[in-house]
Amino acid sequence: MIKNCYIHIPFCDKICSYCDFCKIYYYEKIVDKYLEQLEKEIKSIYKGEVLETIYIGGGTPSSLNNKQLERLFEILNIFNKSTNIEFTIESNFENITEEKLKIYKKHGINRLSFGLESINENNLSFLNREITKEKVNNTITNCRKLGFNNINIDLIYALPVEDIEILKKDLEYLFSLNIEHISTYSLIIEDHTLLKINNIENISEEDDYEMYKLICKEMKNSNYEHYEISNFSKVGYNSKHNLCYWDNANYYGFGLGASSYIDNKRITNTRSMNKYLNGNYTLETIELSNDDLIEYEIMLNLRKAEGISLEDFKNKYQKELKELINIDELLKEEFLLEENNKIRIPEDKWYLSNQIILKILEGYNG
Ligand code: SF4
Repeated sequence: MIKNCYIHIPFCDKICSYCDFCKIYYYEKIVDKYLEQLEKEIKSIYKGEVLETIYIGGGTPSSLNNKQLERLFEILNIFNKSTNIEFTIESNFENITEEKLKIYKKHGINRLSFGLESINENNLSFLNREITKEKVNNTITNCRKLGFNNINIDLIYALPVEDIEILKKDLEYLFSLNIEHISTYSLIIEDHTLLKINNIENISEEDDYEMYKLICKEMKNSNYEHYEISNFSKVGYNSKHNLCYWDNANYYGFGLGASSYIDNKRITNTRSMNKYLNGNYTLETIELSNDDLIEYEIMLNLRKAEGISLEDFKNKYQKELKELINIDELLKEEFLLEENNKIRIPEDKWYLSNQIILKILEGYNG
Protein backbone atom coordinates (compact mmCIF):
# COMPACT_ATOMS: atom_id res chain seq x y z
CA MET A 1 0.00 0.00 0.00
CA ILE A 2 1.49 3.37 -1.01
CA LYS A 3 1.06 6.11 1.59
CA ASN A 4 3.64 8.68 0.49
CA CYS A 5 4.07 10.94 -2.49
CA TYR A 6 6.76 13.29 -3.76
CA ILE A 7 6.02 16.04 -6.31
CA HIS A 8 8.93 17.71 -8.10
CA ILE A 9 8.72 21.37 -9.17
CA PRO A 10 12.03 21.90 -10.99
CA PHE A 11 11.98 25.68 -11.48
CA CYS A 12 14.39 28.16 -9.89
CA ASP A 13 14.85 31.93 -10.27
CA LYS A 14 18.58 31.63 -9.81
CA ILE A 15 21.02 28.71 -9.86
CA CYS A 16 23.04 28.04 -6.72
CA SER A 17 26.74 27.31 -7.11
CA TYR A 18 26.56 23.87 -5.42
CA CYS A 19 23.39 22.59 -7.04
CA ASP A 20 23.26 19.29 -8.90
CA PHE A 21 19.49 18.79 -8.44
CA CYS A 22 17.10 18.45 -11.33
CA LYS A 23 16.22 22.10 -12.04
CA ILE A 24 15.87 24.69 -14.77
CA TYR A 25 15.33 28.45 -14.82
CA TYR A 26 11.79 29.63 -14.18
CA TYR A 27 9.98 30.55 -17.39
CA GLU A 28 6.28 31.28 -17.03
CA LYS A 29 5.03 29.52 -20.16
CA ILE A 30 7.07 26.38 -19.52
CA VAL A 31 5.70 26.19 -15.97
CA ASP A 32 2.11 26.32 -17.29
CA LYS A 33 2.86 23.48 -19.73
CA TYR A 34 4.68 21.54 -17.04
CA LEU A 35 1.70 21.69 -14.70
CA GLU A 36 -0.54 20.31 -17.49
CA GLN A 37 1.78 17.34 -17.92
CA LEU A 38 2.16 16.84 -14.19
CA GLU A 39 -1.61 16.48 -13.95
CA LYS A 40 -1.61 13.94 -16.77
CA GLU A 41 1.21 11.96 -15.24
CA ILE A 42 -0.50 11.79 -11.84
CA LYS A 43 -3.83 10.81 -13.37
CA SER A 44 -2.20 8.02 -15.39
CA ILE A 45 -0.46 6.42 -12.38
CA TYR A 46 -2.13 7.24 -9.06
CA LYS A 47 -4.47 4.50 -7.90
CA GLY A 48 -6.49 6.34 -5.26
CA GLU A 49 -4.65 5.24 -2.11
CA VAL A 50 -5.08 7.36 1.03
CA LEU A 51 -1.83 9.31 1.41
CA GLU A 52 -0.20 10.06 4.75
CA THR A 53 2.52 12.32 3.39
CA ILE A 54 2.86 14.59 0.37
CA TYR A 55 6.11 16.46 -0.16
CA ILE A 56 6.37 19.19 -2.80
CA GLY A 57 10.06 19.72 -3.46
CA GLY A 58 12.30 21.16 -6.09
CA GLY A 59 13.82 23.16 -7.62
CA THR A 60 11.94 25.90 -5.87
CA PRO A 61 8.17 25.43 -5.62
CA SER A 62 7.86 29.00 -4.30
CA SER A 63 9.20 30.31 -7.63
CA LEU A 64 5.74 29.65 -9.11
CA ASN A 65 3.45 32.67 -9.27
CA ASN A 66 0.24 32.76 -7.23
CA LYS A 67 -1.94 31.54 -10.11
CA GLN A 68 0.40 28.64 -10.81
CA LEU A 69 0.47 27.68 -7.13
CA GLU A 70 -3.35 27.65 -7.10
CA ARG A 71 -3.26 25.45 -10.21
CA LEU A 72 -0.73 23.10 -8.57
CA PHE A 73 -2.95 22.64 -5.51
CA GLU A 74 -6.00 22.11 -7.74
CA ILE A 75 -4.07 19.26 -9.42
CA LEU A 76 -3.11 17.78 -6.04
CA ASN A 77 -6.79 17.70 -5.04
CA ILE A 78 -6.91 14.41 -6.92
CA PHE A 79 -5.17 12.74 -3.96
CA ASN A 80 -7.10 11.13 -1.16
CA LYS A 81 -5.49 12.51 1.96
CA SER A 82 -5.44 11.01 5.42
CA THR A 83 -6.95 13.30 8.07
CA ASN A 84 -3.55 13.61 9.76
CA ILE A 85 -1.52 13.95 6.58
CA GLU A 86 1.90 15.62 6.70
CA PHE A 87 1.75 18.00 3.73
CA THR A 88 5.07 19.76 3.09
CA ILE A 89 6.20 22.35 0.58
CA GLU A 90 9.74 23.61 0.06
CA SER A 91 10.30 27.33 -0.35
CA ASN A 92 13.14 29.78 -0.65
CA PHE A 93 13.34 32.92 1.45
CA GLU A 94 14.24 34.85 -1.70
CA ASN A 95 10.84 34.44 -3.34
CA ILE A 96 8.36 33.53 -0.61
CA THR A 97 5.63 36.12 0.03
CA GLU A 98 2.78 36.46 2.51
CA GLU A 99 0.29 35.77 -0.30
CA LYS A 100 2.05 32.52 -1.17
CA LEU A 101 2.02 31.45 2.47
CA LYS A 102 -1.71 32.17 2.56
CA ILE A 103 -2.22 30.02 -0.54
CA TYR A 104 -0.30 27.18 1.14
CA LYS A 105 -2.43 27.52 4.26
CA LYS A 106 -5.69 27.57 2.31
CA HIS A 107 -4.76 24.30 0.61
CA GLY A 108 -3.81 22.39 3.73
CA ILE A 109 -0.01 22.67 3.81
CA ASN A 110 0.99 21.96 7.42
CA ARG A 111 4.77 21.71 7.15
CA LEU A 112 7.12 24.25 5.58
CA SER A 113 10.68 23.57 4.55
CA PHE A 114 13.02 26.46 3.74
CA GLY A 115 16.43 26.34 2.11
CA LEU A 116 18.42 28.88 4.14
CA GLU A 117 21.80 27.10 4.09
CA SER A 118 23.60 29.82 6.10
CA ILE A 119 23.06 33.34 7.39
CA ASN A 120 26.69 34.33 6.96
CA GLU A 121 27.05 36.81 4.08
CA ASN A 122 30.30 35.34 2.83
CA ASN A 123 28.85 31.81 2.85
CA LEU A 124 25.73 32.97 1.05
CA SER A 125 27.67 34.73 -1.65
CA PHE A 126 29.84 31.59 -2.09
CA LEU A 127 26.64 29.55 -2.52
CA ASN A 128 25.17 32.19 -4.87
CA ARG A 129 22.23 32.86 -2.57
CA GLU A 130 20.68 36.23 -1.75
CA ILE A 131 19.10 35.95 1.66
CA THR A 132 18.86 38.62 4.35
CA LYS A 133 18.29 38.13 8.05
CA GLU A 134 15.43 40.61 7.88
CA LYS A 135 13.63 38.54 5.22
CA VAL A 136 14.12 35.33 7.20
CA ASN A 137 12.90 36.89 10.45
CA ASN A 138 9.85 38.47 8.79
CA THR A 139 8.98 35.25 6.97
CA ILE A 140 9.16 33.11 10.09
CA THR A 141 7.04 35.67 11.97
CA ASN A 142 4.47 35.60 9.15
CA CYS A 143 4.45 31.79 9.12
CA ARG A 144 3.72 31.72 12.86
CA LYS A 145 1.00 34.39 12.47
CA LEU A 146 -0.67 32.27 9.81
CA GLY A 147 -0.60 29.24 12.13
CA PHE A 148 2.25 27.15 10.68
CA ASN A 149 3.69 25.21 13.60
CA ASN A 150 6.00 22.80 11.81
CA ILE A 151 8.93 24.48 10.06
CA ASN A 152 12.16 22.99 8.76
CA ILE A 153 15.24 24.89 7.71
CA ASP A 154 18.14 23.38 5.73
CA LEU A 155 21.67 24.20 6.79
CA ILE A 156 24.78 23.59 4.67
CA TYR A 157 28.15 23.34 6.38
CA ALA A 158 31.72 22.39 5.49
CA LEU A 159 32.12 25.24 3.02
CA PRO A 160 35.75 25.98 2.12
CA VAL A 161 35.10 29.63 3.02
CA GLU A 162 33.82 28.95 6.53
CA ASP A 163 35.33 28.01 9.84
CA ILE A 164 33.91 26.53 12.99
CA GLU A 165 33.11 29.99 14.45
CA ILE A 166 30.92 30.83 11.45
CA LEU A 167 29.13 27.51 11.79
CA LYS A 168 28.58 28.22 15.51
CA LYS A 169 26.93 31.54 14.61
CA ASP A 170 24.75 29.85 11.97
CA LEU A 171 23.58 27.36 14.59
CA GLU A 172 22.93 30.10 17.16
CA TYR A 173 20.84 31.93 14.60
CA LEU A 174 18.81 28.82 13.72
CA PHE A 175 18.16 28.14 17.41
CA SER A 176 16.99 31.73 17.87
CA LEU A 177 14.26 31.08 15.28
CA ASN A 178 12.89 28.29 17.46
CA ILE A 179 11.93 26.13 14.48
CA GLU A 180 10.80 22.53 14.83
CA HIS A 181 13.20 20.77 12.46
CA ILE A 182 16.70 21.30 11.06
CA SER A 183 18.22 19.29 8.19
CA THR A 184 21.98 19.56 7.78
CA TYR A 185 24.08 18.88 4.70
CA SER A 186 27.81 18.68 4.48
CA LEU A 187 28.80 20.42 1.25
CA ILE A 188 29.94 17.91 -1.34
CA ILE A 189 31.16 19.46 -4.53
CA GLU A 190 29.46 17.48 -7.27
CA ASP A 191 30.30 17.32 -10.96
CA HIS A 192 28.57 19.80 -13.26
CA THR A 193 28.13 22.41 -10.53
CA LEU A 194 29.50 25.96 -10.68
CA LEU A 195 31.80 25.13 -7.77
CA LYS A 196 33.29 22.17 -9.63
CA ILE A 197 33.74 24.20 -12.80
CA ASN A 198 35.63 26.76 -10.70
CA ASN A 199 37.86 24.00 -9.29
CA ILE A 200 36.71 24.51 -5.71
CA GLU A 201 37.62 21.59 -3.46
CA ASN A 202 35.94 19.99 -0.46
CA ILE A 203 37.36 20.68 2.99
CA SER A 204 39.34 17.93 4.68
CA GLU A 205 37.55 14.98 6.30
CA GLU A 206 38.99 15.99 9.68
CA ASP A 207 37.51 19.50 9.46
CA ASP A 208 34.22 18.09 8.23
CA TYR A 209 34.14 15.73 11.21
CA GLU A 210 34.86 18.58 13.65
CA MET A 211 31.92 20.52 12.20
CA TYR A 212 29.61 17.50 12.36
CA LYS A 213 30.57 16.93 16.00
CA LEU A 214 29.84 20.57 16.81
CA ILE A 215 26.42 20.34 15.14
CA CYS A 216 25.52 17.18 17.09
CA LYS A 217 26.62 18.75 20.38
CA GLU A 218 24.88 22.10 19.88
CA MET A 219 21.66 20.44 18.69
CA LYS A 220 21.59 18.31 21.82
CA ASN A 221 22.20 21.38 24.01
CA SER A 222 19.24 23.07 22.33
CA ASN A 223 16.95 20.06 22.79
CA TYR A 224 16.83 18.87 19.21
CA GLU A 225 16.54 15.10 18.90
CA HIS A 226 19.09 13.59 16.50
CA TYR A 227 16.79 11.08 14.82
CA GLU A 228 18.67 10.48 11.58
CA ILE A 229 22.31 10.99 10.59
CA SER A 230 21.69 14.50 9.22
CA ASN A 231 18.30 15.39 10.70
CA PHE A 232 17.28 16.95 13.99
CA SER A 233 13.88 17.82 15.39
CA LYS A 234 12.02 18.87 18.48
CA VAL A 235 10.12 16.02 20.09
CA GLY A 236 7.19 14.93 17.90
CA TYR A 237 8.43 16.73 14.77
CA ASN A 238 10.36 14.02 12.90
CA SER A 239 9.68 14.31 9.18
CA LYS A 240 7.17 11.55 8.41
CA HIS A 241 7.87 11.88 4.71
CA ASN A 242 11.62 11.49 5.03
CA LEU A 243 11.13 8.60 7.43
CA CYS A 244 9.25 6.79 4.66
CA TYR A 245 12.49 6.75 2.64
CA TRP A 246 14.59 5.50 5.57
CA ASP A 247 11.92 2.93 6.45
CA ASN A 248 12.27 1.68 2.86
CA ALA A 249 8.52 2.17 2.34
CA ASN A 250 6.83 2.55 -1.04
CA TYR A 251 6.23 6.03 -2.47
CA TYR A 252 5.05 7.77 -5.59
CA GLY A 253 7.28 10.34 -7.25
CA PHE A 254 5.79 12.64 -9.89
CA GLY A 255 7.44 15.30 -12.02
CA LEU A 256 10.70 15.86 -13.85
CA GLY A 257 13.52 13.65 -12.52
CA ALA A 258 11.36 12.28 -9.69
CA SER A 259 11.63 8.65 -8.68
CA SER A 260 9.09 6.20 -7.30
CA TYR A 261 9.46 2.99 -5.35
CA ILE A 262 6.49 0.77 -6.06
CA ASP A 263 6.05 -3.01 -5.86
CA ASN A 264 9.79 -3.72 -5.68
CA LYS A 265 10.53 -1.43 -8.62
CA ARG A 266 12.51 1.80 -8.65
CA ILE A 267 11.11 3.99 -11.40
CA THR A 268 13.07 7.09 -12.40
CA ASN A 269 11.59 9.89 -14.48
CA THR A 270 13.38 11.65 -17.30
CA ARG A 271 15.41 14.80 -16.55
CA SER A 272 14.69 16.10 -20.07
CA MET A 273 12.03 18.82 -19.98
CA ASN A 274 11.33 18.28 -23.69
CA LYS A 275 10.58 14.60 -23.18
CA TYR A 276 8.51 15.30 -20.09
CA LEU A 277 6.41 17.92 -21.87
CA ASN A 278 5.81 15.40 -24.65
CA GLY A 279 4.44 12.90 -22.16
CA ASN A 280 7.51 10.64 -22.05
CA TYR A 281 7.81 10.66 -18.29
CA THR A 282 9.82 7.55 -17.47
CA LEU A 283 13.55 7.20 -17.99
CA GLU A 284 14.02 3.74 -16.50
CA THR A 285 12.38 1.07 -14.38
CA ILE A 286 14.58 -1.24 -12.36
CA GLU A 287 13.09 -4.40 -10.89
CA LEU A 288 14.81 -5.12 -7.58
CA SER A 289 15.81 -8.65 -6.60
CA ASN A 290 15.14 -9.91 -3.07
CA ASP A 291 18.82 -9.34 -2.25
CA ASP A 292 18.59 -5.74 -3.49
CA LEU A 293 15.52 -5.16 -1.33
CA ILE A 294 17.25 -6.52 1.75
CA GLU A 295 20.37 -4.44 1.12
CA TYR A 296 18.27 -1.27 0.83
CA GLU A 297 16.36 -2.26 3.96
CA ILE A 298 19.59 -2.50 5.96
CA MET A 299 21.27 0.54 4.44
CA LEU A 300 18.32 2.92 4.84
CA ASN A 301 17.12 1.80 8.26
CA LEU A 302 20.58 2.10 9.78
CA ARG A 303 20.54 5.84 9.01
CA LYS A 304 17.93 6.24 11.76
CA ALA A 305 18.68 6.59 15.47
CA GLU A 306 16.32 3.73 16.22
CA GLY A 307 17.99 1.47 13.64
CA ILE A 308 16.47 -1.64 12.12
CA SER A 309 13.81 -3.71 13.86
CA LEU A 310 14.57 -7.45 13.78
CA GLU A 311 10.88 -8.25 14.13
CA ASP A 312 9.75 -5.96 11.29
CA PHE A 313 12.52 -7.38 9.13
CA LYS A 314 11.32 -10.94 9.76
CA ASN A 315 7.71 -10.01 9.01
CA LYS A 316 8.73 -8.34 5.77
CA TYR A 317 11.20 -10.92 4.40
CA GLN A 318 10.35 -14.13 6.32
CA LYS A 319 14.02 -14.38 7.27
CA GLU A 320 16.06 -13.67 10.38
CA LEU A 321 18.32 -10.70 9.67
CA LYS A 322 21.09 -12.09 11.87
CA GLU A 323 21.22 -15.27 9.79
CA LEU A 324 21.91 -13.17 6.68
CA ILE A 325 24.65 -10.95 8.07
CA ASN A 326 27.53 -11.55 10.39
CA ILE A 327 27.78 -8.61 12.74
CA ASP A 328 29.44 -10.23 15.79
CA GLU A 329 32.64 -8.27 15.33
CA LEU A 330 30.84 -4.95 14.75
CA LEU A 331 28.78 -5.58 17.90
CA LYS A 332 31.87 -6.49 19.88
CA GLU A 333 33.65 -3.32 18.82
CA GLU A 334 30.47 -1.29 19.47
CA PHE A 335 30.13 -0.04 15.92
CA LEU A 336 26.65 -1.58 16.22
CA LEU A 337 24.41 -1.95 19.26
CA GLU A 338 21.63 -4.45 19.79
CA GLU A 339 18.80 -3.37 22.12
CA ASN A 340 15.06 -3.98 22.31
CA ASN A 341 15.17 -6.35 19.33
CA LYS A 342 16.70 -3.63 17.15
CA ILE A 343 20.14 -3.09 15.71
CA ARG A 344 21.48 0.43 15.41
CA ILE A 345 24.64 2.44 14.87
CA PRO A 346 25.40 4.48 18.03
CA GLU A 347 25.38 8.25 17.51
CA ASP A 348 29.12 8.66 18.16
CA LYS A 349 29.80 6.29 15.21
CA TRP A 350 27.34 7.85 12.73
CA TYR A 351 30.14 9.70 11.07
CA LEU A 352 31.46 6.28 10.01
CA SER A 353 28.06 4.94 8.97
CA ASN A 354 28.99 4.45 5.30
CA GLN A 355 31.96 2.28 6.23
CA ILE A 356 29.94 0.34 8.80
CA ILE A 357 27.10 -0.34 6.37
CA LEU A 358 29.59 -1.38 3.70
CA LYS A 359 31.18 -3.84 6.12
CA ILE A 360 27.77 -5.32 6.94
CA LEU A 361 26.86 -5.70 3.28
CA GLU A 362 30.23 -7.30 2.42
CA GLY A 363 29.31 -10.12 4.78
CA TYR A 364 25.75 -10.50 3.46
CA ASN A 365 25.04 -14.12 2.62
CA GLY A 366 21.39 -14.10 1.47
S1 SF4 B 1 17.22 26.72 -5.18
FE1 SF4 B 1 17.62 24.55 -4.77
S2 SF4 B 1 17.18 23.50 -6.70
FE2 SF4 B 1 17.32 25.70 -7.16
S3 SF4 B 1 19.42 26.00 -7.82
FE3 SF4 B 1 19.37 26.40 -5.61
S4 SF4 B 1 19.85 24.43 -4.64
FE4 SF4 B 1 19.33 24.03 -6.77
